[in-house]
Amino acid sequence: MKTFPMGGVHPNDNKLAKNEAFEVFPLPKQATIFMGQHLGAPATPAVQKGDKVKVGQLIGKAEAFMCANIHSPFSGTVNKVDMVADITGYKKTAVVIDVEGDEWMEGIDTSSELKTEITLSKQEIINRMKECGIVGLGGACFPTHIKYMLKPEQKVDYLLINAAECEPYITTDYRLLMEKADECIIGIQALQKASDAAHVCIGIESNKPDAVALLKEKTKNIPGIEVYMLKTKYPQGAEKQLIKSITGREVPSGKLPIDAGCIVNNLTTAHAVYEAVQKNKPLVEIYTTVSGKNLEHRHNFQIRIGTPLQDIYETVGIPENTGKIISGGPMMGKAMTNPNAFIVKGMSSILFMDESESKRGKALNCIRCGKCVQACPMGLEPYKLQAFSEAARYDDCEKYGIMNCLECGCCQFTCPAYRPLLDWLRIAKTKTGAIIRARKK
Ligand code: SF4
Ligand code: SF4
Repeated sequence: MKTFPMGGVHPNDNKLAKNEAFEVFPLPKQATIFMGQHLGAPATPAVQKGDKVKVGQLIGKAEAFMCANIHSPFSGTVNKVDMVADITGYKKTAVVIDVEGDEWMEGIDTSSELKTEITLSKQEIINRMKECGIVGLGGACFPTHIKYMLKPEQKVDYLLINAAECEPYITTDYRLLMEKADECIIGIQALQKASDAAHVCIGIESNKPDAVALLKEKTKNIPGIEVYMLKTKYPQGAEKQLIKSITGREVPSGKLPIDAGCIVNNLTTAHAVYEAVQKNKPLVEIYTTVSGKNLEHRHNFQIRIGTPLQDIYETVGIPENTGKIISGGPMMGKAMTNPNAFIVKGMSSILFMDESESKRGKALNCIRCGKCVQACPMGLEPYKLQAFSEAARYDDCEKYGIMNCLECGCCQFTCPAYRPLLDWLRIAKTKTGAIIRARKK
């Protein structure tokens, strides 16, 4: 079975919501839609207080190269354009909408009819992804169309679809495969057309054998698409690890997958591409897993962007002994410092961690056991990087490869001294990245 050779860990997968079919979450009374929900510059508000909006209407315009359009997920009236705190507590520009209904813009196909024939040209597909504000839904929220804006000398040998879903608890990729496999496959074919890729490879971890079997059956007569069962090992779905596992190729340090002839997209992104390309539907809703060991009922929701998280808490009930609420999975996700924020494009999971899970024990001195080094899939020395970060020695952080850190958390997961490695590594990566960018100017 294919996998990546170096490092990685085996956390309990805790796919507790695996058998919960998608439920459509009710529309809220009021919604808050952030203009910055993606990697890059925030979008510029395209509406003002008092404007009437429909679902799918552009409310945030991408004006920078690295940016993504934002569309209204509701019909109603703009209450205000204001600075609002996100899950980190930082205030960001947002459009607040008083929800009055669910009236969609003309030209958007909201039917459930499967549209199989892809009539748009390669360039039209790329343009449509841009217009519809499609971003990578695997967590990074990189504007998808940018990956397909290639230089003449760049050639795509492999389009890799990441359906590994290696983060514990999260089950949206799995549910999409079980419930909407045909739509996902058409989305993948649209990406194939946009990339001219010779090979399309879909990677799924071995803990989802039914999804592998289903996808193999559905793609058996489609030339150029291969389905790979990958070893269940975290972070199997990380871009560089997925590329190495399936193609054997390595992305050089500081380079992008395209430099190894590859483009990687998440399965959920491929589904959003289906809706954009075939239905002209902007990214106004996401799929998210709401889970936790002590949650009475776990869910996979189809939910509109901008919905208050408070509405979710009221629906599912916050378990009594919740220590932390995490946006994303337990390995790479971020603990919410402001749990009263709103659904954003990249929120693939909301996880209630109990006291015992969220308190790792008191951090002790490093005992130089080397476990973090063994676990690192990028061949880094996390204990050293953490010490450099704490001492603000960012030149040493750069020298020892901090910019190659995936922020996967394998080092922290394995550390017997409970050292908060990931927090320090994230600080070091942000600071070092800023220094490198300033130097290039
Ligand atoms: S978070 Fe960074 S340093 Fe730690 S294991 Fe992952 S890649 Fe290595
Ligand atoms: S795993 Fe923890 S204790 Fe061991 S070397 Fe790394 S930081 Fe130090």
